[in-house]
Amino acid sequence: MRKKVIVIGAGLGGISAAISLAHEGYAVALHEKNAQIGGKLNVLNESGYTFDLGPSILTLPHIFDRLFAKVGRKLSDYVSLRALRPHWRNFFPDGKVDREHTSQLELKLVHGTFRLSIASIDKKIASAHQHWPANPRTCSASISFTAAAPIVTGSGTGSYRGISGSFTVTVTIDEVDVKPVCNGTSKLLSQVILLAGAGTVTRAAAGD
Ligand SMILES: Cc1cc2nc3c(=O)[nH]c(=O)nc-3n(C[C@H](O)[C@H](O)[C@H](O)COP(=O)(O)OP(=O)(O)OC[C@H]3O[C@@H](n4cnc5c(N)ncnc54)[C@H](O)[C@@H]3O)c2cc1C
Repeated sequence: MRKKVIVIGAGLGGISAAISLAHEGYAVALHEKNAQIGGKLNVLNESGYTFDLGPSILTLPHIFDRLFAKVGRKLSDYVSLRALRPHWRNFFPDGKVDREHTSQLELKLVHGTFRLSIASIDKKIASAHQHWPANPRTCSASISFTAAAPIVTGSGTGSYRGISGSFTVTVTIDEVDVKPVCNGTSKLLSQVILLAGAGTVTRAAAGD
């Protein structure tokens, strides 16, 4: 006779434990006091506003992958996950933004480095994904836009110390997504990103 296990609480912890134990052959009864399962992984809809009651970001997807694989399933058959870059951005009281997430692209060249501000490119990519012009038959889409990428003042090192100027960059993204969700939010089958552009770079004369 199968041993019985009672799991109290159907949050992420209880559900995971119940799935694992059931797979190991126990007769599992999962008890939840709320009307729906999920625990803190739920949302509250109130007066037209939506509040996350707990987790809003998934930082360790491999743990879910492992649980699903353990019981012979694939997480990707149930949900489509897409990595967000940047994941978040930190603003400090003095107005500075953390270096890693400044919407700046550092170019490391043979004779030094400098940074380009790619905030306009970031904004246009985000906006394009909200209105993803997908072809539902092929689940593919192509977008192209042009944006300015100015050199970040004071970012030059080595031979690029003191340079200023701006590049005009045309970005073309060609993407094929996994069916049936063809709105730019499902998993990618392929993605090609082409960047092309030209710019003007000047350097302050010595002593300026
Ligand atoms: C504001 C906030 C933000 C968070 N953000 C993140 C995030 O971004 N990313 C992330 O990974 N994690 C985040 N977390 C953590 C994450 O929410 C928790 O680690 C996870 O949800 C805990 O799951 P759990 O199953 O242990 O508990 P819970 O989700 O609390 O589930 C417990 C369940 O047990 C039920 N229960 C309790 N007592 C009984 C009883 N006597 N009988 C029956 N049922 C009972 C409850 O109703 C509930 O459904 C956040 C947490 C909070 C509070």
